[in-house]
Amino acid sequence: MEYRSLGSSGLKVSALSFGAWVTFGTQIFVDSALDIMQAAYEGGINFFDNAEAYAGGEAERIMGEVIKQAGWNRSSLVISTKIFWGGKGINERGLSRKHIIEGMLASLRRLQLEYVDLVFCHRPDIHTPIEETVRAMNYLIDQGLAFYWGTSEWSAEELLEAYHIARREHLIPPSMEQPQYNMFHRDRVEREYARLYDQIGLGTTVWSPLASGMLTGKYLDGIPKKSRFDLEGYEWLRKRLDSPEGKRQLEIVRQLKPVAERLDCTLPQLALAWCLKNPHVSTVITGASKRSQVEENLRSLEVVPRLTAELMEEIEQILGNKPEGFTDHR
Ligand code: NDP
Repeated sequence: MEYRSLGSSGLKVSALSFGAWVTFGTQIFVDSALDIMQAAYEGGINFFDNAEAYAGGEAERIMGEVIKQAGWNRSSLVISTKIFWGGKGINERGLSRKHIIEGMLASLRRLQLEYVDLVFCHRPDIHTPIEETVRAMNYLIDQGLAFYWGTSEWSAEELLEAYHIARREHLIPPSMEQPQYNMFHRDRVEREYARLYDQIGLGTTVWSPLASGMLTGKYLDGIPKKSRFDLEGYEWLRKRLDSPEGKRQLEIVRQLKPVAERLDCTLPQLALAWCLKNPHVSTVITGASKRSQVEENLRSLEVVPRLTAELMEEIEQILGNKPEGFTDHR
């Protein structure tokens, strides 16, 4: 495993990490989650991602139980949660001081932990002043309930505002952002945040590196039973497949297949290695419904050095024209 700094912070996160969205509480429960997280941990993964919203809190309960049963040293783990959607009540969502503190305490109870290492604002909240959120996040850290705070899917402008408020008020600024990043979705990470990596030392914990499985090639000939696109409640993903954009993406995956074959790797390994190649990515959060997927995905690390400048250019051609201003992360 390779370990990377989380932005300019002193924290080291495994380049590949593991998250609980969709799978925990829907496809996998404590026994299988233990098996899967054990495979990840044995492969060197130290960062495990969660959120109060995942499976209505069930994902945190399962992860908490796994951590307890596995008996790992707490100091060997980096655990995160994300606050925003805590319940249906008017004050059980968003980024008010009230919900941030109540949401954090409820997450810790479900996780059976005294603290998380990272806490994220799961989305921006246009109804709460950013200063209130910055102060509440600072409070969580001062109370020892979290060590670092960050955001997820905030605009560069919102991130900068939070950073400047924190600096002005002598509070702790955000250390990391959790954006979507994969071969089909790159604008924020490569262009919008480009200045923030140096300017505010932003780290990134990127999500859906396989575009929910699209980039594995498993949907090239229909929807396999029990795959994510086959799950109840994920009809929106299925619909995407039939859209013109979905068809374009499948065609790209088809063209990537021979590239993976030439590299002697699988499509998921190629797609993950491509994300890892970007130096502004602190960690790539993977998801898996099976142990075998974790084992396959871990081997993507071996593919990174094989992605030469020529190969990256070839992939760029397959993905379509590179929009102006995108990072050349070769
Ligand atoms: P991916 O895009 O990598 O999709 C993971 C899914 O793809 C798996 O659950 C599995 O689904 C399938 N898969 C994975 N590996 C393989 C393989 N080798 N072969 C075939 N199929 C494979 O990531 P996620 O969308 O799961 O996101 C990862 C994490 O990111 C989440 O768990 C969460 O922690 C975080 N996240 C954060 C968000 C945010 O708003 N901040 C939003 C979304 C995710 P299956 O077997 O069921 O088909």
